Amino acid sequence: MQVTEHIHALKIPFKLRVGPAKTVDRFVFAYLIFGDQICLIDCGIAGSEAIILDYIKQAGRDPREITRLVFTHSHPDHIGAGQALKKQTGCKIAAHIDAKPWIENVDQQYAERPIGNFFNLVGGSVEIDSELKDGDQVGLGDGKTLEIYHTPGHSKGSISLFYNKDKALFTGDAVPKAGSVPIYEDVATSITSIKKLKQIKGLEILIASWDDPQFGASVYPSMDAGLQWFQQIHEAVLAETAGSDALDAEDLSARVLKRLEFPEIPLVPIVVTSIGAHLKLLDQQQLI
Ligand SMILES: [Zn+2]
Repeated sequence: MQVTEHIHALKIPFKLRVGPAKTVDRFVFAYLIFGDQICLIDCGIAGSEAIILDYIKQAGRDPREITRLVFTHSHPDHIGAGQALKKQTGCKIAAHIDAKPWIENVDQQYAERPIGNFFNLVGGSVEIDSELKDGDQVGLGDGKTLEIYHTPGHSKGSISLFYNKDKALFTGDAVPKAGSVPIYEDVATSITSIKKLKQIKGLEILIASWDDPQFGASVYPSMDAGLQWFQQIHEAVLAETAGSDALDAEDLSARVLKRLEFPEIPLVPIVVTSIGAHLKLLDQQQLI
């Protein structure tokens, strides 16, 4: 799908295992920026290299023109095809310095953040060629740049990228879609990150990994909707913890999801972690 003259979106479906015999259907977007060079932002799960390389060939370009693959963060659905793409195209890989350990050592990531079918989603560890930090500029040739904003919360090494040519902001998983399953490490940091992105003036396109691009008048309201969603989750946690001080984390998560009117979903550790992130903020009614 073409987003602008230069930006193309590839929607990549995958299955996330949430129980011994149960999977849920998910998807993630990988983005291509076509210019003098080709830049890839995230690359989907293991095996997605075929989809990406086919798309590039069909556009009449050569996969070896991919000069850079930038990861918004280290999670499997964003880095899964990284090792294969680097091998096949020789592209250089960039990511935030705090995302580096889990990208370069996926066994460590799995040990610290277990996901059912992790090793089906990730093709393997891959080495980072350039470590990014807040304020860095990545040159794409011909005056086009990606400006890096460190936006932790969903993960500590999450970044957002501002593409100057189209006034487009790639946010990875930093701005949640309202109503989506809670997946973050630190809710207060997530909120600070979104507020920081709202300060960027003149944005024309917001491009998240789990949603269709938002254009024009929808850009800032969709960031506000993400903030409101954090507040709504927080209020559900406050309601479920009121008067009971020793709730089991899984039990609390199940109650919160029910209060938020999610259909019965199996509780995976990454969701329990997210709900648990609210527990240190129980003295605050208002998070946003
Ligand atoms: Zn993620």
